[in-house]
Amino acid sequence: MKTIGLLGGMSWESTTNYYKAINEGVKSELGGFHSAKIAMYSVDFAEIAALQNSEDWQQTVTILSKAAKAVESAGADCLLICTNTMHKVANDVASSVSIPLIHIADATADELNKDDRRIVGLLGTAFTMEQRFYKERLEAQGIKVLVPNGVQRKLVHDIIYRELVQGEVKINSRQDYLEVIADLKEQGAEAIILGCTEIAMLINEEVTPVPLYDTTKIHSAAAVKFALNG
Ligand code: GLU
Repeated sequence: MKTIGLLGGMSWESTTNYYKAINEGVKSELGGFHSAKIAMYSVDFAEIAALQNSEDWQQTVTILSKAAKAVESAGADCLLICTNTMHKVANDVASSVSIPLIHIADATADELNKDDRRIVGLLGTAFTMEQRFYKERLEAQGIKVLVPNGVQRKLVHDIIYRELVQGEVKINSRQDYLEVIADLKEQGAEAIILGCTEIAMLINEEVTPVPLYDTTKIHSAAAVKFALNG
């Protein structure tokens, strides 16, 4: 089994879900006492969030590259940045190490293509929904991406930072997300990408009228596949 390298803490609420999903994946494949080999570096999210706000992406590259080198030295065979948003600097972080980066948007696009989803709605932080770095990876694989309107994007973004990354799950916010999802479905979305690693804390397929693609689960499963199959 190969060792999975995780850059976590963005936020730790979702990193715990990565840790659980990866171990459950290895256990379900290998059974018995098996668990995943993981090397993790967990950052202080307050530092990262402040740099996001000031758009100092270069400093985030410095922090995440240092973390990536640390997990590589600890024996990791691959690298996962456990957040969609920070894939904004994925190329720079990946180039600081020699182990491969498993890209969250590529893993998600693979799943969408497997299910032949051609038009999808994307929920995430404003950075993820509004900038090119994420959508372009999906579009490169032939997937059309719809995002909520401006007012809804702000709502979706604020709920992530004011509540979810702090572990707060509110019924009203779930309702807000369901309304945004209903609008995206109306515009033609065949599925919704939970393009923020905390959103699955708030909504799941039981309460939504469209299939959901949970990037935390998908990214974790891609890591397990790498660890077990190379
Ligand atoms: N975990 C979130 C994401 O997947 C947001 C936190 C962050 O900004 O990294 O985008």
